[in-house]
Amino acid sequence: MSPPVQPVVSDEKLPGSADVVVVGGGIAGSAAAYALAKKGLSVALLEKGRIAGEQTSRNWGWCRQQHRDLRELPLAMKSLEIWGELGRELGVDPGFRRTGLVYVTTRPADLALWEAWTLRARDHQMHSRVLSGAEAIDVLSIEGAMVPGPTSAEIAESLRSHGLNVTSQHVKPGSRSAGQTIVDTAVAGGADLIVKGAYTQSRLRQMIFGGMTRHLILNSPLPVLFSY
Ligand SMILES: Cc1cc2nc3c(=O)[nH]c(=O)nc-3n(C[C@H](O)[C@H](O)[C@H](O)COP(=O)(O)OP(=O)(O)OC[C@H]3O[C@@H](n4cnc5c(N)ncnc54)[C@H](O)[C@@H]3O)c2cc1C
Repeated sequence: MSPPVQPVVSDEKLPGSADVVVVGGGIAGSAAAYALAKKGLSVALLEKGRIAGEQTSRNWGWCRQQHRDLRELPLAMKSLEIWGELGRELGVDPGFRRTGLVYVTTRPADLALWEAWTLRARDHQMHSRVLSGAEAIDVLSIEGAMVPGPTSAEIAESLRSHGLNVTSQHVKPGSRSAGQTIVDTAVAGGADLIVKGAYTQSRLRQMIFGGMTRHLILNSPLPVLFSY
């Protein structure tokens, strides 16, 4: 789902001259124009339609460092640094969240590649980790937000029978949304990862009460692994 694109009103009169003329007001043109203007140059940004009205507002919004070509990595790291400061600098929330990234595979060959990349990426001070089995699992159910099926205690018991270190909690959200209750509980418990079935409620219910999946996508400070 694309974010709403806020309209940018054009100047009515073109400048008589400019140090730089940038054609195209997507992320590439707008970012270039902004960076040049910050350096003190006069810039004219020309857009044939709407600012950010094309591909820039239709992508998935990821800024990925992990498993990039190592030649691109410094640029990806710099981009994350800039995104992190942009809200404060512009005085508006650009909607950017850092939640981490988890890659999952069942193929040993993938794992070997990723482990090799992780070692090489350390030269760039980029620290990625290969996760083994979880040290501890806490199965969480939220009062009023459960779908028919086993309780969290029953799931925990079943997982324990496979030799895993599992606890369970059934939490009352109080005045919080179910999604926020998941986030709060995971953060308070020091979790590294939230695992959740995505879109477990009907579309109608989600429209009225909001969805946990959407809430986690937008608000979780921790990486989330969805199954759908
Ligand atoms: C499905 C999909 C998912 C993606 N996901 C990601 C992602 O997760 N992370 C990521 O980093 N990238 C992602 N991308 C890539 C990313 O969207 C593009 O690289 C980026 O938006 C390109 O920005 P841009 O400014 O070059 O182009 P655009 O956003 O297309 O901007 C170009 C602008 O130039 C204007 N223009 C064109 N011709 C003229 C003209 N003659 N005069 C005036 N204006 C003109 C257009 O109207 C437009 O507004 C994804 C791409 C796709 C297709």
